Amino acid sequence: MSEELFSRAKLVIPGGVNSPVRSFRSVGGTPYFVNRAEGPYVWDSEGNRYIDYVMSYGPAIAGHCPPQIIDAIQQASGNGTSYGAPTLAEIEMAEEISNRVDGVDTVRLVSSGTEATMTAVRLARGATGRDKIVKFSGHYHGHADSLLAAGGSGVANQGISGSSGVPSSAVADTIVAPWNTIPELDSSIAALILEPIPANMGVVPSNENFLQELRSLCDKHGVLLIFDEVITGFRIARGGASQWYGVTPDLWCFGKVIGGGLPMGAYGGSLEAMSNIAPLGDVYQAGTLSGNPIATAAGLAQFRLLDESAYERLEITANRLSKGLGEAFANAGIDAVLPQVGSLFSIFFTQQSPTNFDEAQNAAENGQYKRFFHSMLSRGVALAPGPYEALFPSLAHTDEVIDQTIEIAHEAALEIANSNS
Ligand SMILES: *Cc1c(COP(=O)(O)O)cnc(C)c1O
Repeated sequence: MSEELFSRAKLVIPGGVNSPVRSFRSVGGTPYFVNRAEGPYVWDSEGNRYIDYVMSYGPAIAGHCPPQIIDAIQQASGNGTSYGAPTLAEIEMAEEISNRVDGVDTVRLVSSGTEATMTAVRLARGATGRDKIVKFSGHYHGHADSLLAAGGSGVANQGISGSSGVPSSAVADTIVAPWNTIPELDSSIAALILEPIPANMGVVPSNENFLQELRSLCDKHGVLLIFDEVITGFRIARGGASQWYGVTPDLWCFGKVIGGGLPMGAYGGSLEAMSNIAPLGDVYQAGTLSGNPIATAAGLAQFRLLDESAYERLEITANRLSKGLGEAFANAGIDAVLPQVGSLFSIFFTQQSPTNFDEAQNAAENGQYKRFFHSMLSRGVALAPGPYEALFPSLAHTDEVIDQTIEIAHEAALEIANSNS
């Protein structure tokens, strides 16, 4: 049935998917088509149930289909789906974000993480009157032209560094630096953009004090520091990675978690920085569906589930899972590391945790992930279909579900150890 659906999809959708990683290209085989999801599970079109660690790549942090979010969506949708005029829920959403994140005075809602990063870069350029930006290789910031150079996630999965169709002029002002090495900045640079916990080349944490040093360096040269917290925001802590590390950027980008599973992104910062955005300033950004009433309802409902205890719970869950997986690999004699910051971690089948994109690519491209992925999938556990993605355990992943996953991982690890020898 998946085969049939995939064939049918490929006739009318490029590659059969609406986002490249979903195509299973980097792991081989046919993607499962999802019928429904609840709690920690997804069910495919053939009725198979999987323990899910894709979790929409982050948005489903409270588990799939939580009744509180579904109720909020149902209530909101009864009042109409989009107005093109401001709403109370938008204010509440902005207040919630601003309350959680120290340094975010005002915030603009958009419809995706890509829009958030694209606009943050435009804003930094407008505010500084400078054109150049610096990004780190392996950091993924969505698919805006100027940010596609040396991206992680799907860009890395497809084995292409960047993308064709991006004119050299569009990336002429993008400087790509290696992660965990202090880059050279000067007064021609508008912004330094980064994932404070890179999680699109696998999880490759920053060296000790690296973010603090970048903060000082940016101050020295008048460069705006942009934290792309599209994954880390409201996941790693109530106030995201800036709270976790105690480092305050000039601009923040959010996505994934904030929409509660509906399309939403946001960018924010100080009153002063954000005053450059239209209608206050002359940096333009707009959106027909921005602040959508159903998306804001879903996002607010999810925020209500994300109190301090939720973050403690998430971290305990992630620790239990990463420890158990590590033991499964060790037991089977498989080299593996599970780099982790808080509740965010990934798997590399190698002896040493990568510290930059080159090392991450070497570790990811040895074929082991593919084998482990299929071995887990055939036993009812859905990992992301690519070696560069993190695992996303949610609040719905109980100890029991984690322990089942670990038991299955022991079998899967032994299977791939046998096939390796
Ligand atoms: C997913 C992601 C984006 C892009 O968000 P979309 O909603 O897919 O456009 C940007 N930055 C990071 C760090 C991400 O993980």
